Amino acid sequence: MESTLDEDRTDPSYRAWLKDAVRRVQADANRSADTHLLSFPLPEEWGVDLYLKDESTHPTGSLKHRLARSLFLYGLCNGWIRPGRPVIEASSGSTAVSEAHFAQLIGVPFIAVMPRTTSCEKVGLIEFHGGRCHLVDDPRTVYEVSARLAAETGGHYMDQFTYAERATDWRGNNNIAESVYQQLRLERFPEPAWIVATAGTGGTSATIARYVHYMQYDTRICVADPQNSVFFDGWRSGDAGLCCETGSRIEGIGRPRMEPSFVPGAIDRMMKVPDAASVAAVRALEGTLGRKAGGSTGTGLWAAFRIVAEMRRRGERGSVVSLICDPGDRYLDKYYSDEWVAAQGLDLEPYAEVIRDFLKTGEWSG
Ligand SMILES: *Cc1c(COP(=O)(O)O)cnc(C)c1O
Repeated sequence: MESTLDEDRTDPSYRAWLKDAVRRVQADANRSADTHLLSFPLPEEWGVDLYLKDESTHPTGSLKHRLARSLFLYGLCNGWIRPGRPVIEASSGSTAVSEAHFAQLIGVPFIAVMPRTTSCEKVGLIEFHGGRCHLVDDPRTVYEVSARLAAETGGHYMDQFTYAERATDWRGNNNIAESVYQQLRLERFPEPAWIVATAGTGGTSATIARYVHYMQYDTRICVADPQNSVFFDGWRSGDAGLCCETGSRIEGIGRPRMEPSFVPGAIDRMMKVPDAASVAAVRALEGTLGRKAGGSTGTGLWAAFRIVAEMRRRGERGSVVSLICDPGDRYLDKYYSDEWVAAQGLDLEPYAEVIRDFLKTGEWSG
């Protein structure tokens, strides 16, 4: 008879730490309220209603609060995050802000690896939550630098661009999609014709699309992609190996490579939105709702406006949902600065005119 090999690695002090860490993350969720689904005012007789899921009101100010919570729970439950060991992330900023919050909550060090062009406000927020920022000149190196730092420190590279889609419970558990459908229940068109998302990790669009398919809804999913990003071309051609040189100007979205957590097959439609249109749209949001938001909110809003105009032209009635991804006060020196816009060579006026026409007539002249 062969002998039975047996090794028990039970470590009671680690298990006690793990239980407490999971409890702390869950308690944070339990203390939090759901985010609002705002109605974007359009004339009722148009027969198309537009809603914005306001993800800027999470405790750490963006939709990345949901992702960070999921990634921490996934990393903890997998035994990847360990007491006293740093958590490291490659991030264009928002994820790092939220992850710094959760790292502080469970008492582990946090290091964010980010492009040097990340806004000063975000660097300040990460440091405010007790995190450290490691800035790199070439945005394409954030992945390898993060993996190297993790190896050197014995820490855990969270790797949002790989794990975002699988760390999130796409079947429900009050994920962003389930929350939107719950909040639409008493509206005149409770099942949206379209949900428009943008893609950084691709996690949000994957979660929404999977939930829609799982629940057997007819809603279609459109992803709006900014200028400097390969998602649109990669989705269209099916080439998962595409790369581009320039980093995205729209913080949080647009990637220089096809990220593993972007799930192209689940997406019905994509739009490539010029950066000047994104900025014009987010400025128009302030004119209508009195709220500032980040550039990616403008990218999605531009696509949503276009879809509303299209539905009207075809005489379709229904609702469209897009997202407010993060607040505008993080970008006063970017999307809300005329100097920055001019220095980037962006001309907002032609796009602003298309939006003004649309809001007045419901027609799309772009
Ligand atoms: C991450 C991010 C997005 C896109 O969300 P993903 O789920 O990563 O695709 C949009 N806007 C902002 C501001 C973000 O930080």
